[in-house]
Amino acid sequence: MNSDRNKKTSYTIPQGSRAGLTERAGLTERAGLTGSAGSIRRSGRFGRVLAGVLALAMLPGMMGILSGCKKRGFGKDAEGKVKVVASIYPVYDFARKIGGDQVAVKMLVPAGTEPHSWEPSTRDMLDLEEADLFIYNGAGIDAWAEDVMDTVQNKNLTVLEASKDVTLLKAGEDHHDEDEHEDGHDDHDHHHGEYDPHVWLSPKNAEKELATIAEALIEKDPDHADVYRANLEKAKKECEELDSAFRERLSAYSGRYIVVAHEAYGYLCEDYGLKQIGIEGVSADQEPDAARMREIIDMVKEYGIRCIFFEELVDPKVAKSIAEETGCETRALSPLDGLTKDDIDAGREYFSVMRDNLQALAASFE
Ligand SMILES: [Zn+2]
Repeated sequence: MNSDRNKKTSYTIPQGSRAGLTERAGLTERAGLTGSAGSIRRSGRFGRVLAGVLALAMLPGMMGILSGCKKRGFGKDAEGKVKVVASIYPVYDFARKIGGDQVAVKMLVPAGTEPHSWEPSTRDMLDLEEADLFIYNGAGIDAWAEDVMDTVQNKNLTVLEASKDVTLLKAGEDHHDEDEHEDGHDDHDHHHGEYDPHVWLSPKNAEKELATIAEALIEKDPDHADVYRANLEKAKKECEELDSAFRERLSAYSGRYIVVAHEAYGYLCEDYGLKQIGIEGVSADQEPDAARMREIIDMVKEYGIRCIFFEELVDPKVAKSIAEETGCETRALSPLDGLTKDDIDAGREYFSVMRDNLQALAASFE
C-alpha cells in the first residue's frame, strides 16, 4: 500500500539549532536527572539522549581529546573527502558505491550487530560532529536517527533519509491479507514496526536509495558530480541485472512460501511473487511463543515447505527446532540488516550477498 508518511527531503541543520539543546536540557531538569546516573540508565532511550546532551555540553573539551586520538573520528585518510556517516549496513554500502574514492564513510551500527534494537552512544554521536552528511535508512529501522538533529551541534551536517522516495509497505502486509484491518489511527509506534524498513531487499528500491544518495553527494560536493553520476549509472545497471536474475530464476515459483528468521522480505516477496512466514516479526525483537511455533509448523506441513531460512545475526535455534520438528533443511538467507566484519573484510557487499540469497531461494524450491 502507499505510505502516508510525510515525505522528507534532505535538510541541513539550521543555524542556531542550539535552541533544541536548551529545550532538552530543560527536560533534563524536569526529569529529575540532576546528579543521578541511575535514573539516566533506567530511562532507556530517552535517558541515553539526555546523557548525550549532557556530554555535548562538555563537547569542546571532548573534541580536543578526540583530535589527539583519532581512533573514533575520521582520521587523516578522510582529508579532502566528503565525510559521511551511515546508520546501518545497506546505506553504508550504497554510500561507498556512489562515493567511491571521493568519500570517507563510517557506519554507526557496528559490523555483526543486529540493528533493530541498536541505539547510538554518546561517542557514536561524536562522529557526526565531524561529518558532512549523515545518511539513515528510515522507515523505522534506525528511528533514533531522527533525534540526531536535536543533539548534534555540527551546522555543516546534512541529514538524508535514504528511503524517502520508496513506497513503503506496512509491516506484515503481505501475509495478513485474510484479516487486514484498517488501523489508521491506533496506538502503533510510527517509528518502529509500523512499516517494513527492509526496502533494499528489492533491487528496484535499492536503485532508488542509490539515486537519493547520489543526489545528496552531488549537492554536497558538486566538483565531483561526474564521479557520483558515473558510479550511480554503474550501480543502477547492477541493480537491473540483479532484478532480471531474480525474475528469471524465481518466476517458476510464484506463489510459494518461504519461512524466514524475521519478516524482512516483504519487498522481495512482492517483487517476485513469493510469500513470507516470519519466525519473528519485522523488527526481529521477539521470539515466537508456543502458539506461534505451532502455527508455523502447521503451515510448513500444509504448504509442503521444505526449507527453513535462518540468518547470521539472529540466533538460529528456533529455526533449527522448527526444521527438526518438520524434517526441513535449513539455509542461510541474509536480510542485509548487517554483515559480519569477516564478510566485509572478505569483500562481500550488497550485490554478492543478494546473488547468494537468490541462489539459496531457488535451491530451496528445486
Ligand atoms: Zn531486519
